[in-house]
Amino acid sequence: MRIFDPHIHMTSRTTDDYEAMYTAGVRAVVEPAFWLGQPRTSPDTFADYFDSLLGWEPYRASQFGIRHHCTIALNPKEAGDPRCRPVLDLVPRYLAKDGVVAVGEVGYDSMTPDEDEVFAVQLEMARDVGLPVLVHTPHRDKAAGTRRSLDVVRESGLPPERVLIDHLNEPTVAMVKESGCWMGFSVYPDTKMDEDRMVRILKEYGTERMLVNSAADWGRSDPLKTRRVGEAMLAAGFTEVDVDTVLWDNPVAFYGQSGRLDLAETEPAAFYAGNTIKRGG
Ligand SMILES: [Zn+2]
Repeated sequence: MRIFDPHIHMTSRTTDDYEAMYTAGVRAVVEPAFWLGQPRTSPDTFADYFDSLLGWEPYRASQFGIRHHCTIALNPKEAGDPRCRPVLDLVPRYLAKDGVVAVGEVGYDSMTPDEDEVFAVQLEMARDVGLPVLVHTPHRDKAAGTRRSLDVVRESGLPPERVLIDHLNEPTVAMVKESGCWMGFSVYPDTKMDEDRMVRILKEYGTERMLVNSAADWGRSDPLKTRRVGEAMLAAGFTEVDVDTVLWDNPVAFYGQSGRLDLAETEPAAFYAGNTIKRGG
């Protein structure tokens, strides 16, 4: 099984995770820029974070045989903090960089006017530079948040095939399918979507424009959930081609629209160079 995890926050994960992911078949990932839990108080810390998504983390992933790409944006959780607003001036500079395959995560957390503005501005940036967009949908009031996200995307004039609406569930999948946008599902150990529900959705709606991710981060999450979904699909009678469509071809097709995916095979390093890098302090 070859796996492309289209949404995972590797910055928060260990080298054991990278090893287990490689063994499970993960060969490529996209790490969206998001909230780090602790609120940031200055745009400079965003610049350092974005740089690590483009420098250190792809290097670390490559040591374990995994291609790492990222998306860049001011996320909705911090969109309302005036101290973070100048990040919008940094974003275009990062969108020009090679490892950046989309604008994201953008969208809504609490659906405030600040979030509206930050979302719309970044959709405009995506249109200007011709990059796809990863849209986060809120965990509370998801149906309303998803509907409003689709309206904002429509108003932006972005072609729906360049937009991925993520963290979907049973009540929100139909409206996104209808819109022509790509559909993302985050499969978690104990909340939101699980692998059996995911398989039922794939049975009902098909595999076209469907992406499955682990969204693993600093919270309770499991970077092998993509593999578990592939196994559950096979057990439910899907073919290996279907599994490959969902876990590889679809993310490649979506993020490939950036023209910046690098999927050349990379072997895990025989000798983990990270251990030889002198740590500070
Ligand atoms: Zn995320």
